[in-house]
Formats: sequence, structure tokens, C-alpha cells
Amino acid sequence: MLDSLRSIVQEVNSAKDFASVLQIIVSRVRRATRTGVCSIYLHDPVGDAYVLTATEGLYDEAVGNIRLSAGEGLVGLVAAKAEPINLDHAESHPNFAYFPETGEERFRSFLGAPIIHHRNVLGVLVVQQQESRRFDESEEAFLVTVSAQLAGVIAHAEATGQLARHLSPDTALQDGETVFRGIPSVPGIAIGDVVVVTSPADLYSVPHRPAEDIDRELELFQQALERTKQDLRAVHEELSDKLNLEERALFDVYVSMLDDSSLGGEVRVLIKAGLSAQTAWSEVIIEHIRNFSSMEDAYLRERASDVRDLGRRVLGYLQQSQTRDQEYPADAILIGEELAAPNLADVEVERIRGMVSAKGSRNSHLAILGRAMGIPTVMGAIDLPWKQMDGKRVIVDGYQGLVISNPRPEILASYEAQLDEEKLLAEDLERLRDEPSVTADGHHIALWVNTGLRLDTLLSLDRGADGVGLYRTEIPFFMHERFPSEEEQRKIYREQLEMFAPRPVTMRTLDIGGDKALPYFPIEEANPFLGWRGIRISLDHPEIFLVQLRAIMRASEGLNNLRILLPMISNIPELETALDLVFRVYRELTEEENYDIAKPAVGAMIEVPAAVYQVREIARRVDFLSVGTNDLTQYLLAVDRNNPRVADIFHALHPALLRALKQIVEGAARENCQVSVCGEMAGDPLAALLLVGLGYEVLSMSATNLLRVKAILRLVSLKQARELARDVLELDDDHSVREYLEKALEDPEVSRLYRPSKKLN
Ligand code: PEP
Ligand code: MG
Repeated sequence: MLDSLRSIVQEVNSAKDFASVLQIIVSRVRRATRTGVCSIYLHDPVGDAYVLTATEGLYDEAVGNIRLSAGEGLVGLVAAKAEPINLDHAESHPNFAYFPETGEERFRSFLGAPIIHHRNVLGVLVVQQQESRRFDESEEAFLVTVSAQLAGVIAHAEATGQLARHLSPDTALQDGETVFRGIPSVPGIAIGDVVVVTSPADLYSVPHRPAEDIDRELELFQQALERTKQDLRAVHEELSDKLNLEERALFDVYVSMLDDSSLGGEVRVLIKAGLSAQTAWSEVIIEHIRNFSSMEDAYLRERASDVRDLGRRVLGYLQQSQTRDQEYPADAILIGEELAAPNLADVEVERIRGMVSAKGSRNSHLAILGRAMGIPTVMGAIDLPWKQMDGKRVIVDGYQGLVISNPRPEILASYEAQLDEEKLLAEDLERLRDEPSVTADGHHIALWVNTGLRLDTLLSLDRGADGVGLYRTEIPFFMHERFPSEEEQRKIYREQLEMFAPRPVTMRTLDIGGDKALPYFPIEEANPFLGWRGIRISLDHPEIFLVQLRAIMRASEGLNNLRILLPMISNIPELETALDLVFRVYRELTEEENYDIAKPAVGAMIEVPAAVYQVREIARRVDFLSVGTNDLTQYLLAVDRNNPRVADIFHALHPALLRALKQIVEGAARENCQVSVCGEMAGDPLAALLLVGLGYEVLSMSATNLLRVKAILRLVSLKQARELARDVLELDDDHSVREYLEKALEDPEVSRLYRPSKKLN
């Protein structure tokens, strides 16, 4: 059965559509368990019932017609109890329901396993057998394993609307509202037309596009084929004396594959039926690759890579000639499998309203760019059928990490209203630019910015930031193809320090590792967030760290506004070694090389739970502390900050986190050490209030959030913020904290500054 399991998984993974997946499962499971029947019942939200969706063994006519609610019949009982049921005499069970239209009266034994995804029972997988017998433990375990595998596929089909189409092919659900979830990466709302952005010559990332002009598509296709044939002939000539007869014959095979009687002909038929040349070509090639890959014969299986290679060549030419004389719509939503910074090169930034990437995380380049430019962005939308979305009008909700296609009119209207409100709010907030950042009762709170790109530096200056609380030095490292030299680094840092002088600039030393890998310094680890990252890499590579420290300090010559921040400190020896290196560089530069540099303030990030418990020991050794709530939350709650599967339990207002924050601010105060917060929490208006209430006086955030935070602070007194912080520390969970704050801050002037939770139902 283990072998069967492996090959079922393989077959399911290469199935061409959802219907084939279901068919593969019922037929392979029936065979593996040697039973008379295998069926899948799936949950249909319309009518809230489990519907017979695929079967081998029951009458075909019953498919789609047998519906059981939870608790009804044996299938409904499996669903209601969310556990397997194994019976040798099904007909004598009180729940047995008999449906003559299935022909199941012949089957006496019954084994059903629920198909569960994220606690939801999506369906039931059943095997039945004519003779009465109890299925053994290994059979039960087998069925449970297949169900668990199937759950992911069904959840994906549900998220992409395939399941609804499968269950009700004729209804209006065809084009129903679909909500895809990802990681909220840049807050804000965007409504616009999707432009699918792809990587060049990648057969699997060609969006599904119709032909606008069929004759033109045919002509371009012909040209691409001709250019590919010319290439093949040229290579053939060049290699003719190095290849044997058989190998040369392969080139002829390639060329003939492009003919009308072969791939060329198949593609032309699809173009004539209305598909664009790129779409038609990629679909035909992918189908052939799939066929070759599943062949038993090793030689034929190898041919899949030839077809893939040919496919990419032709596609490359098609893309070159069509570099989609693309007119980007005025309100473009860029969507792609793995959108990256270079994808933005062809678009005028003003046209981009929102961005969505199926892969990637909050820390991907794209999200960082999006934050700098204030473009609502959702990353890690794993279920997004991005290829099918070109030209669709969608809503991107960067607050909640949602992408909504075909929204219901009332949902669209509510988002449009929110967008209008946001525009008005942004205009209102502009007026606060030169107003002081004080609470309603006059206490000054310093609002600093997080930077890394030139663009956010400019925006930060425009927003009147008091300083830079976090300059992420890894960002310029990402933009290079190798480690930047000392002088290259010095120039970049100098610009940053000069632009803000005399205001302070906090330069964090290289914080790579985790999910922030440099392309030229790849790190392969099973558990990267607990691995080689931040200061650990710097200490292991003094040649990189010392060069960076020299560049940072030399950049500050004559300016006197530099602060140095050390990331990921998790123990005291690590901190002491890093401090020794910082001061060694300082001494060398000033005493041996005669640079005129003011001694920089040096601080440590508090972003690891161990550092919370040793905050006083750390504070005693440094000039300031900066709390990285992004990592602190992930480590405290043991929730990967980039994993969409657990994004809903990344509770930014978890009481455990609030207590840790209290402990940090109190520990720092006892040591008379300045402390700020530079994680995303500081830029969330509600959370910022709490931080102030807990005692933080310096908040550092993305420039796009600065005015909103300033506005809320000006409306609430320090006294009220303190009371709120005191009260929520007594609550049990994130949800209660949020509810409490929202209730306490109901005043419309205040509540328009934070996002009221929008419910999609
Ligand atoms: C943090 O962890 O909160 C932080 C500010 O650093 P980064 O997001 O760069 O890890
Ligand atoms: Mg961090």
C-alpha cells in the first residue's frame, strides 16, 4: 500500500485538472484496497451538504445527486464526528441511509475517512465492500493518509473557485466572488485591472490570454517557428563534426516537431479558436511534457526535456516580438507567481495601484519596495490562479492580505467607499506634516522612520521624520551582484547620513539569513529562522563585518549623527564580541588613520525572547535598545512571520508580546537606556498607542504610516494610552485586546485612523 500511496501522490501532482484528481483517487484507492467501491463526497456550501462527487463502483448517475447533510447517513456521520468510521455491517448501523439510485445495497462493509483542511471537513472518502468484513488498521490508516493528501488539493480547488464550478457547473457560481488569502505586506486598498507579469521564457508562467487579432498571432507564431528552426539548423551546422549520425538526426526531429503535422499544427488550431500564440504554445507544450514525463520508457521520458527546451526557445521569440506593446492600464494591479523588483522596470510607477505575488513574503524585495512607495501589496497568495487573472478587475486589501475577484456589488461599493475615505484622510493628514508629534496632553513622542531605499528616504524627509530608527543595510546589499566594496558602501551610507543630518540615523549592521538571502551568498538550511542569521553571520565573517563597520563609520565623518544597531542579539558574549569589533574599528580609524569621526552610539536589537529576559544586562552594555517586534512576535509565539498557513495566528497584539514589551521598557528604564520600537507594530496606529501607553517614547516606522500614527497620538492623551495599556495587559488574547481598543477608541475622528475590521460575509 505504501507504493500505491507514493504513486497516487505522483499521479495527483501531475493531474491536469481537478476532475482528473478525483478520478485518480477513486480508481487508485479502490484498486489499492481491493474493494468494490471508492467514492468521494465533497462539501457544497450551497445547501450545506456532502455531495457524491466521484465514484468507482456506484452508479455514475448518482454522482451529483446524492446529498447528505452533516450527521445524515454514514457519510454525514463521518463528517459530523470528524473521524473515521469502520463497519462490517453497515446496514445495521442506526445511521445507515439507503439510496437505491446508487446501487450500494450490495455493499455491506463501510470505511469512511473525513477530508479535513485547517479544521474544516471538506468531504468524506469512502470505500465499501460486498462481503462483510472489518477493514484492518493499516487500511484505515491508508485511507486517512490519502484523505490528508487530498485535503490540500481540495482546499486549493475551493480557493480558486474550481470546486464551486465542479459542484455547480451551470449556476451563476461560475463567476462568483472569490477571495484569495495571502500575507498582508503593505497596508492599503487598491481596486484595478490585473496585469499578469511573467518571467521570460517560462512556459509555466504564461497567462491565459485570448488573441486580440488572430491573423497577427498566427503570423507572429510563424515567425517564431522560423527563427527557432534557423537556430536549430545553425547549431546543427556548427556541431556537425562533433555529433554522430544519430545525434544529428535528433535535430531533424526537432525541426519536424515544429511542422504543421506536429506541434505547429496543434497550436495553430488553438490560435484559430481564439487563444493568443503564447498561451496556445505553452498549453500544447505543457501537455506534451506531461505526457512524455509519465511514460514508463526511460528514453521517452527523457524526451520531455527536449520538448521543454524547444518550448522555451519558441516562447522566447514570441515574447521578444510581442514584448506586449503593453499599454498598462491607469489603475494596474500587478500579479505574478513571484513578482520581483525588476518586474517594475517596464511600468510607470504612478500606474501601479496594487501588487500581488503568489510566492514571497513580507520581507521580499517587492514588499519592501511596495512599502516604500505606499503600494498596497499582498504576498504569498499561494492559491491565487494568477495565470487566469489577466485583465480581471480585482480588489487588493493590503490590510488583511486579501485579493477579491468578481466582488459582489455591495463588497465593491464598500471598498470603493473605503478607498475614497482613505484619499480624503491622506489629504487631511498632509496638514499634520509640520505639526509636532505630541499626545493630546502635550507629551512629545519621537516618530522616526525605517529606510533602506533612496525612495523611502525621500518620502521620509517629506513626512517630517525626526530621525531614522532603522536603516536596513541589507537592502543595498540585495541590489548588488556581489558584496559591495567598502567604498561602494561608504557612498551609500554617506548619502543616507547626509540627507538626514543633523537628525540621527540608526544603521543596522547586515541582517541577512532567515528568509533574507543574498543571491551571491546563498545559505541552505532546514530551519533558517533559527539558524545562521544577523549578527551570527557577521561574527563568523569578520572580513565582511569589519569592512561594513569601516564603511559606516567613515561615512559619518564630520556629521556626528550616526548610531549603530546590532541585529539578532541572543546572548551576552555575542554582544560583547560585536561591541569589541565596533570599537576596534573606531579606534583604528580615529587613532591610526586620523579620521575625524564622532564616537557613534551603539545599540542592540531586542527581537529574540532571550534578550527580553536579559534586557538589563544588555542595556548596561549599550547606548540604546531597539525592539524588533516582527521577529520578537515570531519567536515568542513560534509562528513563522512569512508562512501564510499560520498567518492568522501571527497575533501582533498577543498579551504575551505586550507583557514582553512592558518588561523591556521597564528594564531599559532601570538602566537608564533609551529604547525604541522599530518593528511593524510601531506603524500600526492602534498598536502605536499601546506602545506609548507602555512607556515607549520613540517609534520607528515605514514613512507611509507616519502621519497616521502622529494623528492618532495627537487625539489621545498619554493618560488614556496608559490606562488602555494597563487594561489590555489583563486580557486573554489578541482578539480581546483589539476589540477592547476598538471599543475604547470608537470616536469617529480616532477610528478612521485605524482599520476597523472588515468582515466579508
Ligand atoms: C523586526 O524584526 O521587527 C525588525 C525590525 O527587523 P526585520 O523586519 O528587518 O527583521
Ligand atoms: Mg528582525
